Amino acid sequence: MGTISQPILIAGGGIGGLSAALALGRKGIPVHVIEQAREIGGIGYGIQLGPNVFHMFDRLGLSDIVKREADFPQAAVWVDAFSGEEVTRVDTTPEILKRFGQPYIIIHRGDLHNILMDACRKVSGISFSTGSAVTGFEDRGSHVVVNTADGNHFDGAALIGADGIRSRVRAQMFGDGDPNYIGWVAHRTTIPIEQVPNGVDKRVVALWGGEGFHIVHYPLRHGKLFNIVTVFRTPTYAQKVDVETYRDEIQKTYARAHPVMKQLIDMTALDWRGAVADREPIRHWTRGRAVLLGDAAHSTLQALAQGACMAIEDGVVLAELIELSRGNYEAAFRQFQAERAVRTARVIFESRYLWTVLHPEGETRGPVHRRFRAMSRDEVWDSLAWLYDGARVPTALTAK
Ligand SMILES: Cc1cc2nc3c(=O)[nH]c(=O)nc-3n(C[C@H](O)[C@H](O)[C@H](O)COP(=O)(O)OP(=O)(O)OC[C@H]3O[C@@H](n4cnc5c(N)ncnc54)[C@H](O)[C@@H]3O)c2cc1C
Repeated sequence: MGTISQPILIAGGGIGGLSAALALGRKGIPVHVIEQAREIGGIGYGIQLGPNVFHMFDRLGLSDIVKREADFPQAAVWVDAFSGEEVTRVDTTPEILKRFGQPYIIIHRGDLHNILMDACRKVSGISFSTGSAVTGFEDRGSHVVVNTADGNHFDGAALIGADGIRSRVRAQMFGDGDPNYIGWVAHRTTIPIEQVPNGVDKRVVALWGGEGFHIVHYPLRHGKLFNIVTVFRTPTYAQKVDVETYRDEIQKTYARAHPVMKQLIDMTALDWRGAVADREPIRHWTRGRAVLLGDAAHSTLQALAQGACMAIEDGVVLAELIELSRGNYEAAFRQFQAERAVRTARVIFESRYLWTVLHPEGETRGPVHRRFRAMSRDEVWDSLAWLYDGARVPTALTAK
């Protein structure tokens, strides 16, 4: 058993780390967040958040402000990348609110980060070190010591590794290597909404899916901006290549795409690309006084748009268990992994399944589209109820 006066250390001030910090801080549990970037802030693109995450925002006191900053898409639309025909259209606002009691939203990542940071700054027990990359930690039995690249050492009661898909903390704990790169890349772009070509529905979340590629687009900042994510398979996924090569690859990849889709693709920002990856689910996210959370624990493909939602759920559930454990961190962490492992593994597997569905190869395209076209809105919602109904938040510590 440890004391609760030492702070809990959190490696990583991403969406998961900040959610955990806020959830703990609001309970009066001191937290110190160690972030490698000089400033904590979201990147300048959008993110979709499902209704399940609003149960967590309610607990964090953030639902109203998130809704104020968010856009509420009218529908989620799947468009065939070659013909431009809609495969399915599912109304989302207000239908999701009616069915699940919470909305489906899109929000600028920078705005979400600022909301979390502003809320953290108002809690006296939450402190930050920035420009400080965690290089490793020692579990000394009664406490942990975290070391950073700038030569600092931090003492804490326990360590939460919220340092993303290439987690340093995970590497030390389990050494299970690189993420699972699937050979695809993503480019993210935001443009002023006035630049959106005619023929594009600006009020919806749309995915244009084809063989080996897709784009996703939606409005941001109350319809002032437009977010485009361009995703495709390429043999150069693991390399840093120059902008001209990126442009050539994109033009070749999308050569057969519908003309409206091509106009959107021509706007793709080429200054940044990320390799798409997930991780195999693992059963153990904890050892002694250290535990993983968010992408560090269960990184997923973005097909269900749930990675950040899972990280936020993790933060709230973990804080609840830490409070219930009264300093028995090992028990709290074991119960956390038991509570969260199956739900997050299902997100990983269903995202992989959806990835194949959204990019049907060859002759599978027709049957896949027909199957999804035949689904009613309620059938779609029924298939997502396990996720959108929300996560269980424990009320008792049962682990020893
Ligand atoms: C193209 C794309 C689209 C997506 N769309 C959605 C979506 O619509 N909805 C959704 O819910 N999810 C989406 N996701 C997933 C989502 O972005 C992630 O799941 C989420 O950001 C995970 O949060 P995290 O805090 O666990 O990790 P991260 O966001 O990766 O944060 C980790 C933090 O740790 C810091 N860090 C890393 N290493 C160290 C170190 N050694 N020391 C200190 N700090 C460190 C990093 O700088 C970072 O701030 C998408 C992902 C991609 C790639």
